[in-house]
Amino acid sequence: MAGLVVSQHRRTCGDVESPVTVTSQEDIILTVNAIAATSATEPLVRSTVERRDVGPHDVLIEIRYAGICHSDIHTVRGEWGEVPYPLTVGHEIVGRVAEVGGDATLHAVGDRVGVGCMVNSCRECENCRAGQEQYCLKGNTQTYAGVDRDGTVTQGGYSTHVVVDQDFVLRVPDAIPYEAAAPLLCAGVTTYSPLTHWNAGPGKKVAVVGMGGLGHMAVKIAAALGAEVTVLSQTLGKKDDGLAFGAEHYHATGDPATFEALKNSFDLIVNTVSAPIDMACYLGLLRLDGTLVSVGAPPEPLPVPVFALFGNRRSFAGSNIGGIAETQEMLDFCAERGIAPQVEVIDADAVNEAYERVLGSDVRYRFVIDIDTLRG
Ligand code: NAP
Ligand code: ZN
Ligand code: ZN
Repeated sequence: MAGLVVSQHRRTCGDVESPVTVTSQEDIILTVNAIAATSATEPLVRSTVERRDVGPHDVLIEIRYAGICHSDIHTVRGEWGEVPYPLTVGHEIVGRVAEVGGDATLHAVGDRVGVGCMVNSCRECENCRAGQEQYCLKGNTQTYAGVDRDGTVTQGGYSTHVVVDQDFVLRVPDAIPYEAAAPLLCAGVTTYSPLTHWNAGPGKKVAVVGMGGLGHMAVKIAAALGAEVTVLSQTLGKKDDGLAFGAEHYHATGDPATFEALKNSFDLIVNTVSAPIDMACYLGLLRLDGTLVSVGAPPEPLPVPVFALFGNRRSFAGSNIGGIAETQEMLDFCAERGIAPQVEVIDADAVNEAYERVLGSDVRYRFVIDIDTLRG
């Protein structure tokens, strides 16, 4: 058992010396530096987390960068339900493979790899077999605050190392700048998945609501897929950036005239807003057979007035991250098309300040923690 401490060693992990608790020959726990939330209201603090020993199918990753997703903030602040504090969040992870298990063949030591929002799934249910592990009928194992196969609570990427089953580790192409790759593992795939599922492409008018971490990737990806992209942001403050990311049109949702001018316009609207929005207003912007898909996950319900769906035979949908094969496809697509998130790299100690800026819609456009500042 992990809790039964027999003796304490030090074990070298990549370029870092980390304390290790040995409990038995098979059960070596690696203790690594991390940032943790201890309650819904206290600032995040430097801490440590324990990683299981590298099993036969596992990969040990020395993390280099971890993105800050708004979901991290919803989670640590208890907005989505009970939290197993202390908790280390972070599900936009890139780094190098430092060690592989005896039967792991998909990745080699030194490879540049990534981990997103899930680290396992049942692999047997209908959805897993269809490559839609994010919709695992038994629940996928979330990268943090999930229950791992050994019964422990999973701990995320604001840490120096992580051990993950090789099947849930992605290859990060060299063409993607290292520090910009991490946000693709959540923001990238969460927008790529609905855009491709609902056929964003030439001849399609796509609106993106909210231009933060997810939103700016939605703009870049939709434009690369060939759609005519409109940004719907609270103000016109980021208009130049939106157009540079590939949007053709940019409107302020703070101006009621926007909703009049754009009535019955869009084939697809991707809502990335972290707070509730007025669904009737946005549904009215869909043309015949248009779909509004929400990836934004506010804690409050989003009330949908059914009459707003009747006109133009509109649909309201949701979408959850993306499958593993789809995530690899998205990474390869971004590498090929020269698409990367726009990031602001921060030190580990700047995380609390970054959270406040995200909450104030003052993010350009994803904060990424330089995990080297957590070492030593
Ligand atoms: P973010 O960087 O904070 O971006 C959200 C954007 O929404 C802001 O930049 C802002 O854009 C707009 N916004 C914020 N508050 C608003 C308000 N009160 N009214 C109108 N617009 C507002 O967050 P993110 O990391 O992109 O995540 C967005 C949401 O997606 C979060 O709820 C997150 O939990 C969720 N999420 C879902 C999935 C999934 O699988 N479904 C995956 C990842 C994240 P403007 O300044 O342009 O208006
Ligand atoms: Zn996320
Ligand atoms: Zn499953």
